[in-house]
Amino acid sequence: MTYKSDIEIAREAQKKPIQEIGAKLDIPTEHLLPYGHDKAKVSQEFINSVQDRPNGKLILVTAINPTPAGEGKTTTTVGLGDGLNRIGKKAAICIREASLGPNFGMKGGAAGGGYAQVVPMEDMNLHFTGDFHAITSAHSLLAAMIDNHIYWGNEQDIDIRRVVWRRVVDMNDRALRQINVSLGGVANGFPREGGFDITVASEVMAILCLARDLSDLQRRLGDMIVAYRHDKTPVFCRDIKADGAMTVLLKDAMQPNLVQTLENNPAFVHGGPFANIAHGCNSVTATTTALKLADYVVTEAGFGADLGAEKFMNIKCRKAGLAPSCVVVVATVRAMKMNGGVAKADLGAENVEAVKKGCANLGRHVANVKGFGVPVVVAINHFVTDTEAEVEAVRAYVAEQGSEAILCQHWAKGSEGTEALARRVAEIADADMANFAPLYPDEMPLFEKIETIAKRIYHADEVLADKKVRDQLRAWEEQGYGNLPICMAKTQYSFSTDPNLRGAPTGHSVPVREVRLSAGAGFVVVICGEIMTMPGLPRVPSAEAIHLNEAGQIEGLF
Ligand code: ADP
Ligand code: MG
Repeated sequence: MTYKSDIEIAREAQKKPIQEIGAKLDIPTEHLLPYGHDKAKVSQEFINSVQDRPNGKLILVTAINPTPAGEGKTTTTVGLGDGLNRIGKKAAICIREASLGPNFGMKGGAAGGGYAQVVPMEDMNLHFTGDFHAITSAHSLLAAMIDNHIYWGNEQDIDIRRVVWRRVVDMNDRALRQINVSLGGVANGFPREGGFDITVASEVMAILCLARDLSDLQRRLGDMIVAYRHDKTPVFCRDIKADGAMTVLLKDAMQPNLVQTLENNPAFVHGGPFANIAHGCNSVTATTTALKLADYVVTEAGFGADLGAEKFMNIKCRKAGLAPSCVVVVATVRAMKMNGGVAKADLGAENVEAVKKGCANLGRHVANVKGFGVPVVVAINHFVTDTEAEVEAVRAYVAEQGSEAILCQHWAKGSEGTEALARRVAEIADADMANFAPLYPDEMPLFEKIETIAKRIYHADEVLADKKVRDQLRAWEEQGYGNLPICMAKTQYSFSTDPNLRGAPTGHSVPVREVRLSAGAGFVVVICGEIMTMPGLPRVPSAEAIHLNEAGQIEGLF
């Protein structure tokens, strides 16, 4: 049997005009700012006007430690949103926008898969409504203004060896990681080292996704540290006077984008911060707006629950005053096998023993999420290669742990395949069983916060950090940053910092390599291991196969 590719299914979508999708959430036409026929932004004015309404129920979709292909969190988020609509609920979806660069490398799209997708998937994976271009422009403006400030006399006394604001572009381009700028003589400024990150790694992206409104956006942009003076004091974006113009460039990008699923249900697709050096969730504005307009909002956090759900709870929910009513942990038989020690090439063959072994990974994620006081349901994202015995092994394990696993077939069947999950999730959300609390209080010292995450979530014995790291954390506490949450940057493949340590390891250490302050976004980034902020392209980039066919349709995106 052959299956249609994601883009083939997406192309056959019977899309409705975006005004009809907006009408499902009672958004008046004049408050939808259309970008073509199938995308629209929701006006800031309308968002302001619904703030007094009660919130719907927030449902988070997260996952076990994944295989390199991803476990279907987005696919399941879309499938569950469609499933809730199918059983008669007023539900909306909130997911991230896709980074453009990685589509030309080897990553699949970010719009879900099979019969659980958001459309138009081509737009969503490419330029979409221009939000990322706006972010790139705002980021670049600040970079230009910093070098211009230095050129015209450097009134702030910036130490040009300590400019921390790098440049960004939304492309995988390893050649730009480390560069020299201002070469070529007196007219071009003062030569110094610089470099590029990919746009989604910009602090501007993290800020756009955490800001509550435009004034909060400008305040946070102003708070960003861009360089240090010769006396080592920080220079803020505000000192360069870029925050106002950056806010102007970001004004439209702050408004959430509305699109639809294959089943014509509303989906907000807005913002897309990295899930390692940033928090990896769609924008706060999209989530809070959706909660005012729908009774149930299904959203996704990047990577496995040890990173994604932890940051969703400890950063996004804490900052935005959100509280999830239910968490869905996505598990796949193949990821279970991988966590059970099977190599990627052997995932196709039935291996119940490996599935059972890998279930320890799932069990720990479920227990961790429960530790936040939120009820959990496991969604088994069914692959056609899964055998009944393998699925049964997962179900039995989860039941033994006192939870519930529901088989979902949305990839193959759309909402019909998530009806059972939707009913259960709605029941749990309606029963108000959650008693959400973040893992640590704001007042806890920074190093203790890192230890709390490492011990409670990763089940590590200790956090290793040299004097330099500890001194830095203490200095930030003295400067008034001690109340910030932690943003962990580590491998997504393991609870530990070693990507090869699968399952549910104990007794490991978490070595901290470096700490960075994102003063505008409002978190301290803790880097454990190699974290890449500018990806490269593989030997054979998928760009080589991307083209327009005779009908003018895009081929090669997946
Ligand atoms: P994540 O959000 O966890 O990274 P996605 O939902 O984006 O994962 O899915 C990753 C890829 O796996 C997509 O290309 C999607 O089409 C595919 N996929 C997801 N679920 C299934 C499934 N049940 N069967 C086959 N392919 C799937
Ligand atoms: Mg995803």
